[in-house]
Amino acid sequence: MQKDYVQRFIFEGKPIRGEIIRLEKSFSIITQQRDYPSFVLKFLGETLVSNVMLSTTLKYEGQTTMQMRQEGPLEMLVAKCNNQLHIRGLAKWNDNASFEELKNTLNNGQLVITVQPDNQVDVYQSIVKISHQPVAQVMEHYFSQSEQLKTRIWLAVNHQYAVGLLIQQVAQTDNKEDENNAFWDEIVMLTNTITENELISLDDLTLLRRLYHEYDLRMFETKPAEFRCTCNMTKMEGAILVMGQDEAYNILKQHKKLSVKCEYCNNEYTFSEAEVRAVFANH
Ligand SMILES: [Zn+2]
Repeated sequence: MQKDYVQRFIFEGKPIRGEIIRLEKSFSIITQQRDYPSFVLKFLGETLVSNVMLSTTLKYEGQTTMQMRQEGPLEMLVAKCNNQLHIRGLAKWNDNASFEELKNTLNNGQLVITVQPDNQVDVYQSIVKISHQPVAQVMEHYFSQSEQLKTRIWLAVNHQYAVGLLIQQVAQTDNKEDENNAFWDEIVMLTNTITENELISLDDLTLLRRLYHEYDLRMFETKPAEFRCTCNMTKMEGAILVMGQDEAYNILKQHKKLSVKCEYCNNEYTFSEAEVRAVFANH
């Protein structure tokens, strides 16, 4: 059975679409890279799922990035996904920070959302304030602003799974605005009865029946998601350039080689002294 995917559905004859996103294997590959405290793991999982939701709205080939920006012990949190649903992400934090301190750093944080179409220099960037809001609410706000469509999101993360459910009102072609809005309110009310535990543990069909058994739904084929890193030798050469000659040669003096680790997948790239010299000579 497919474990990492997006399951789309619609309400027959009604202007609402939905998506269930489940990340299991990809989420475990990401979370195994570091010993994440539960709060950071939850936040990372929620951001990864939200970013997949964002990528499914792309109408062209490209990549979406969600990155935290704030000052505090949560030093970095980034999630990336492209329209083929290749995902990766990581977080870094100050080990000495308490749970409360980590959590409080989000109070004044910002979420920077970048959409980068392939083969294009231009990027589209939005900055959303986090201030005390859960990630789901931050994303609802983003979607309603950027797409001008009513959107609600439910997220659930534990050590094994990161799951999300999205419903969105689609552009209405009929003249039944009042009726459509009443239906939207009804669906939101029904979906609000879901618990995080149910979102994680119920299979899609059971979940959708449990929420919307009175209505006709059409489910589409699932689209698989997977962890995939885009690191390569050239990108690691870039990291050596950022490190600078002094530090690079210092490490070579001690270790006779220079190893650079990709932070997303922990793959290690090793350069000989001659290779490092060539990197600096070529730039
Ligand atoms: Zn990598």
